[in-house]
Amino acid sequence: MSTPLFPALESPSGQVALTFGDRRLTYAELARAADTLAAGIADAGRVAVWAAPTLETAVAVVAALRAGVAAVPLNPRSGAKELEHILTDSAPSLVLAAPGDELPSALGDLVRVDVEVRPAAAVPGPAAEPGPGDPALIVYTSGTTGPPKGAVLPRRAIATTLDALADAWRWTGGDVLVHGLPLFHVHGLVLGVLGPLRRGGALRHLGKFSTEGVARELETGATMLFGVPTMYHRVAQVLDGEPELAKALGRARLLVSGSAALPVHDHERITAATGRRVVERYGMTETLMNTSVRADGEPRAGTVGVPLPGVELRLVEEDGSPIDGWDGESVGEIQVRGPHLFSGYLNRPDATEAAFTADGWFRTGDMAVREADGYVRIVGRKATDLIKSGGYKIGAGEIENALLEHPGVREAAVTGEPDADLGERIVAWVVAEDPGSPPSERELADHVAGRLAPHKRPRVVRHLAALPRNDMGKVMKRALPEPNRGTDAPQNR
Ligand code: ATP
Ligand code: MG
Repeated sequence: MSTPLFPALESPSGQVALTFGDRRLTYAELARAADTLAAGIADAGRVAVWAAPTLETAVAVVAALRAGVAAVPLNPRSGAKELEHILTDSAPSLVLAAPGDELPSALGDLVRVDVEVRPAAAVPGPAAEPGPGDPALIVYTSGTTGPPKGAVLPRRAIATTLDALADAWRWTGGDVLVHGLPLFHVHGLVLGVLGPLRRGGALRHLGKFSTEGVARELETGATMLFGVPTMYHRVAQVLDGEPELAKALGRARLLVSGSAALPVHDHERITAATGRRVVERYGMTETLMNTSVRADGEPRAGTVGVPLPGVELRLVEEDGSPIDGWDGESVGEIQVRGPHLFSGYLNRPDATEAAFTADGWFRTGDMAVREADGYVRIVGRKATDLIKSGGYKIGAGEIENALLEHPGVREAAVTGEPDADLGERIVAWVVAEDPGSPPSERELADHVAGRLAPHKRPRVVRHLAALPRNDMGKVMKRALPEPNRGTDAPQNR
């Protein structure tokens, strides 16, 4: 028998574990609800979870983990096509949902089991803890670059990544985490729900993200905030007019951003108003968490810190040779190795094989440099963020950051498109702060001229009403209007 994933559920206390709005469960209540459900689904094989931001979702996932039944979280906002893709691919035997959830017809005749958070009779949970290599969760990737793939996450990976974060951040049972993240990706679910439970701490979920909710929770005992860059952007926008929010953020022990790059401009604005730095962390569905800033390290805007304890990380040239030394300039693909990795894509042996080198390194597809002190600076995704122009390899992120510093620019995405002379020319997609008077091409050219070397300056500026984003707020460059670089048509959404 291996060690339990949640030691605090073994002899549960009256301490509050989970709060969703005005509903909460103590560890004792959570153990009772999860074990009762676990007993009922122990023979289910694999279950889907209708992962709305509710107490029931948390109970359902903990129950599946207790029972050793692999859980597939479903995004309640998915379209019918995406749900059908995930259900056909993962073939669950039933779906766990909250009694009030309305399930769409795309779920077909899948058996529904309602999650009772306060069951009338307590049933003891399964006696044996599943093994470390057993699949615990099947989480679909965000679908930023193509149709979502099901990453099979063994218990070992979940335990390893949560312990590495606890180590790096000194995350303890005394911490109270607040967030409003969705619960069908690793950020909101693995880090955001299972993270606090692993340590015996608490989660307060906002239901829906709001800056008022963040301020309220941080004022009343929450110690940590998790968010994606679009949330921190919102925070940065309103900080000047909401002094309570600035004060509350100043009090937090840890402000963490992940899932996409936090624009430097937003980071600086938050620091200026609160005196606090945001800790960035970098991870993926397939690898869980790879890097972050450690508690004794100094967060630096534009970087994602250093490899977490137990994570092997290297940068690799296009020909497969590792880059030696940290010079802050040499761009390579991030490859990682360690017990925090997934065990493969569901039903995709070809994709799984292609994702690993012969000696077990996972190819992340993300490009980065390492600063002299080892900090990782992500340049972007190899597929969509690396522009080859005039013999240079240019990362879109640096240009996006420069554009975002212009007061008239609300959102920016940079791509490359074919160019007879340059190979690719740099295109800036810009959403204006005031659509009535967008910054002119001339103005933007002058703005970036002071910030970027000539070969990094956009040749073309295109204005949009909004950037295409997925549910995690990630920019889906493949869904930008044509002409565009190396894209396939957006699928499923
Ligand atoms: P898909 O694989 O389906 O195209 P996705 O890659 O967006 O979607 P996730 O696994 O949710 O799906 O996201 C992982 C990716 O998000 C990473 O590979 C990286 O590109 C990006 N990412 C995560 N954290 C950061 C960060 N702190 N800074 C920059 N990029 C990040
Ligand atoms: Mg990916």
